[in-house]
Amino acid sequence: MSAPSRLPAAPPPEDPARAPTRPAPPPEPLDAAAVLELYRQAGGLRQGHFVLSSGRHSDTYLQSAVVLQWPALAAALGRALAAPWHGRVDVVVGPAMGGVVIGHETAAALGVRMVFTERVDGRMALRRSFAVAAGERALVVENVVTTGGSALEVAELLRAAGAEVAGLATIVDRLPEGAALPLELHALARVAAASWDPSDCPGCASGSGPEAPGSRRGLPSTGR
Ligand SMILES: [Zn+2]
Repeated sequence: MSAPSRLPAAPPPEDPARAPTRPAPPPEPLDAAAVLELYRQAGGLRQGHFVLSSGRHSDTYLQSAVVLQWPALAAALGRALAAPWHGRVDVVVGPAMGGVVIGHETAAALGVRMVFTERVDGRMALRRSFAVAAGERALVVENVVTTGGSALEVAELLRAAGAEVAGLATIVDRLPEGAALPLELHALARVAAASWDPSDCPGCASGSGPEAPGSRRGLPSTGR
């Protein structure tokens, strides 16, 4: 199998029976290389052969929760995400679960409120008495944008409520090469990662079994 060479090999995540080691404070400025290094050190960015939450197989595993479990890292990422949007946003909106923690940190940095959307019968919705008002400028925040589908659904929901969608901010842009979304997009880092239907997966073709690193006790992987 041709090993992907875009990213350095990372050690597997720590033994789940032991508490993770407290990470070093995030560097300033938090440029793209530094963001990916935070993920790599936390075990949230690995190379190999993985099953994604969608069921597709990939050579790259990306999991933001292990980075965002550290409030100092989440706050630093939120400040970096907020940078292009100061004065342009009245409310941050994140799709649950991936947009909740980082959306809240981004809103804190912008000094605005944050609400999150949830799926109700498969459709994105604002619950819990959350609302956006007509004319409010809304920023959609995600941890990873893989297809942009969730972000576009959130944007549609916001426009239906009369809000203006300022754009989309994400920690990691994992969109397919050449893909463009009809939203102003600012990402802190980009990861070029292929994914395949299991029947077309080169990892499977080479005979290696895929890993589902987000899964414990039979739960599906939460990696993206
Ligand atoms: Zn495979």
